[in-house]
Amino acid sequence: MLDLGSEIRKLEKNGIDMLHFDVMDGIFVNNITFGLPVLEQVRKASGITLDVHLMIKEPAKYIKRFAEAGADMISFHVESESNALETLKAIRECGVKPAIAIRPATPAEAVFDLLPYLDMVLVMTVEPGFGGQSFIPETVDKIRAVRSRITGLGLNVNVEVDGGINGETSAIVRKAGANVLVSGSFLFHADDMAAAAKALKEDKIC
Ligand code: ZN
Repeated sequence: MLDLGSEIRKLEKNGIDMLHFDVMDGIFVNNITFGLPVLEQVRKASGITLDVHLMIKEPAKYIKRFAEAGADMISFHVESESNALETLKAIRECGVKPAIAIRPATPAEAVFDLLPYLDMVLVMTVEPGFGGQSFIPETVDKIRAVRSRITGLGLNVNVEVDGGINGETSAIVRKAGANVLVSGSFLFHADDMAAAAKALKEDKIC
């Protein structure tokens, strides 16, 4: 049987700071992934930061349950059907850090009014739904626009990127203002995960 605790300790030893959970409902995106039971098991097995990314149609309905299951941060999509401001407030009321996610085709301005109410903006650098996709270069301008607005407002908000992040794209997104990098394939297919994680964190601007 899989020993989640020791698997997660291995990740931490390799320089992984948090686990990013993609939750899909098969409606908002055309794929279905694990949900609450897996999150609960991981929470029981480890104290690592759990970053939950809800790619679901009505996130507001599920905030409390994901908070109770052990999420430290919850992001949901500005394109979802829930009221964004109310959902952000509901997340914070549960003692969880609120974040908003934005798809590649949605302009940066869609999240500007929400910035004072959140801890993190998740800029999708691929279309949400499947792992292993290539980075969309046009999203770099959006990272820059979001970071510049945050700085202009004097806020302390993280900018996270998700999709196609590897040793090359990491330098590009960091230069544009991202400071939380999600990576799947690049880390898990690497011969040396610790070296791959280090490459994502280093300021190697190409
Ligand atoms: Zn994600």
